Amino acid sequence: MSKQFAVIGLGRFGSSIAKALYDLDHEVMAIDVDEEKIQENLNNVTHAVQADSTDEVALKSLGIRNFDVVVVAIGQDIQASILTTLILKEMGVETIVVKAQNQLHAKVLYKIGASKVVFPERDMGIRVAHLLVTPNILDYIELSDEYSIVEIISSEKMAEKTLLELNIRARFGCSIMALKNNDYINVAPSANDKIHEGDIMVVIGHKNDLRRFEEFVM
Ligand code: ADP
Repeated sequence: MSKQFAVIGLGRFGSSIAKALYDLDHEVMAIDVDEEKIQENLNNVTHAVQADSTDEVALKSLGIRNFDVVVVAIGQDIQASILTTLILKEMGVETIVVKAQNQLHAKVLYKIGASKVVFPERDMGIRVAHLLVTPNILDYIELSDEYSIVEIISSEKMAEKTLLELNIRARFGCSIMALKNNDYINVAPSANDKIHEGDIMVVIGHKNDLRRFEEFVM
């Protein structure tokens, strides 16, 4: 079902979110105070409107209250980001997602009612670091401070052994959620399924357990 999104602030992060949502066939209203940003993004969203989001009257006249999700992607100007979030909250916007500059900014945003605070640069940095230090890792998704999902390429060590023989859950405390081999994906591998060298394992677990498992695979 198509949802209605508004994205405020069309810097690199905001414009990228707006375009991705629009490409996924959602209705996207993009707002920026800078007319040049509006022109740059005209073709990537449903409507692009020049407005200052710290101006309550302007936001009201855009009917922002009726959007399912509003993303506040104002990067540098922390004051504008906080004021905008507060105005959206007071207007009754249900889901407000805000990009934060630092922990203190995030704390203030949660206090005034942001539904979710994101740190795109920090999260991407963590993700790329994981990909760099472990050559077998293809992807890394942080679920919380403690738990993650990683995609790891199996090594010769594991080849032609069943999940039962490898006993990964008992030895490492993490679970293999899926096995991928070229186009074939086994989404519920059973104990007797064999791992082949080069299979991609999608593994969920505590970060410390995943690290031990990654070291074993290498
Ligand atoms: P990024 O790091 O994602 O590129 P920036 O901080 O460079 O983010 O971009 C933020 C965008 O938000 C800019 O295009 C800026 O014009 C816009 N912006 C800043 N303040 C406001 C405001 N009060 N109302 C609307 N847009 C704003």
